[in-house]
Amino acid sequence: MTHPTTGTVTAYIGLGSNLASPAEQLITARNRINATPGITELAFSSLYHSAPMGPQDQPDYVNAVMGILTTLSPLDLLRSLQNIEHLQGRVRDGERWGARTLDLDLLIYGNEQLDLPELTIPHAGICQRAFVLLPLAEIAPDLVIPDNRAIADLLKNCPPTDIERLTA
Ligand code: ADP
Ligand code: MG
Repeated sequence: MTHPTTGTVTAYIGLGSNLASPAEQLITARNRINATPGITELAFSSLYHSAPMGPQDQPDYVNAVMGILTTLSPLDLLRSLQNIEHLQGRVRDGERWGARTLDLDLLIYGNEQLDLPELTIPHAGICQRAFVLLPLAEIAPDLVIPDNRAIADLLKNCPPTDIERLTA
């Protein structure tokens, strides 16, 4: 939602890693996101340990969700996140849902609904992914995503997957 006086928007970012010390990758990414002009952290979830989605011959993931206030446009925010992925050695080898040092997904951007070639908001996977919904519900339990779906309801209907909260 755009704030009437400051022009800032509340957005949520999903973080994931399953290579090269995943928990440290997430902490480094959090610091880099915080160091980005136009972004202020509102909340950061616990870290969660989850089984991989897609190819099973890869390590388990560490996931978290970060809430921010931002003055960046959705596409500028996406580019900033992709730049941080790149800085942390993300290699795009074409395998869908393959192992990665860092995945930063823009989950929600205010009340925006966008369907551009490079950016879908709300992120298309939110509703099926416990590793997104659990940390999101932890930091924003009353959130209703733009097409009126409540996080609590989405979580109830989400397929059960192997996921464990790591830190308080
Ligand atoms: P995934 O996160 O599904 O494993 P990638 O991180 O490799 O896949 O992203 C693939 C593409 O998804 C990116 O090039 C990006 O342009 C696109 N994309 C579309 N919507 C989003 C979004 N909400 N957040 C991040 N990337 C997105
Ligand atoms: Mg991604």
